[in-house]
Amino acid sequence: MSPSSSKKKKTILEIEGYPIDGLSIGGHETCVIFPSLKMAFDIGRCPQKAISQDFLFISHGHMDHIGGLPMYVATRGLYKMKPPTIFIPNSIKDSVEKLLAVHREMDQSELKNNLIGLDAGEEFHLRKDIKVKAFKTYHGVPSLGYIVYSNKQKLKLEYLGLSGSEIKALKLSGVEITNTVTAPEIAFTGDTMSDFIVDPNNADVLKARVLVMESTFVDNAMSIEDARDYGHTHLFEIANYAAKFENKAILLMHFSARYKISDVQAAISKLPSILSGRVSALTQGFL
Ligand SMILES: [Zn+2]
Ligand SMILES: [Zn+2]
Repeated sequence: MSPSSSKKKKTILEIEGYPIDGLSIGGHETCVIFPSLKMAFDIGRCPQKAISQDFLFISHGHMDHIGGLPMYVATRGLYKMKPPTIFIPNSIKDSVEKLLAVHREMDQSELKNNLIGLDAGEEFHLRKDIKVKAFKTYHGVPSLGYIVYSNKQKLKLEYLGLSGSEIKALKLSGVEITNTVTAPEIAFTGDTMSDFIVDPNNADVLKARVLVMESTFVDNAMSIEDARDYGHTHLFEIANYAAKFENKAILLMHFSARYKISDVQAAISKLPSILSGRVSALTQGFL
């Protein structure tokens, strides 16, 4: 977990082995990019680096999260890149199709894409070694978070003591020597009230190796009640729920534009010690 110290570095952050790029300013634009997985979460105003990501996950239809979608699809078409795969809440799929149809009508381009609507709890196998699952979030409009799982082949316990050649022989004889082990790697909340934390169906969100979580408000300038009125999470709630997070790392995002980087860092430094060293902030675009 170290902020970029030289301009040569291509990404802003590296957390748990994942380079992370993008920016997230509440109400302005949110796009969080995992370039090694070719994934972007929300598209914001479509930052340049989002265009090379093949998979896009849209959390909800607020403009600061979805505004750049037609630009993302169009620019990939312009550069002759393969049509993107875009995950969205099922409940807004028709609207997004209409939106793209209007753009097609205007610019007479194909705007090719693979649009996949998901409901909370629904899974999609992206690759042999990666699946994604949508999870319920609590915002004022239909919304979803996403969990990315890794599927790894692990040698079955009973064969752990065998030599390489014995394992090879077993495999050749047709014995199934591995189990598929699935682990939550990344969870992205989009905008949500803190209720997602205590939703028993969301246990894997709190176990994901890296949790990217909104924390729109961070200090006394806004209360927890204010945050809830706007459908958002307050850092004080994250502090109250500190013991629930089993994540190796937590990246906070979607801070209100009212804050400076120093406000955010000061607030994070006051988090309970159980979270210290695990929490960082996406402050790109803040002063
Ligand atoms: Zn937002
Ligand atoms: Zn929103």
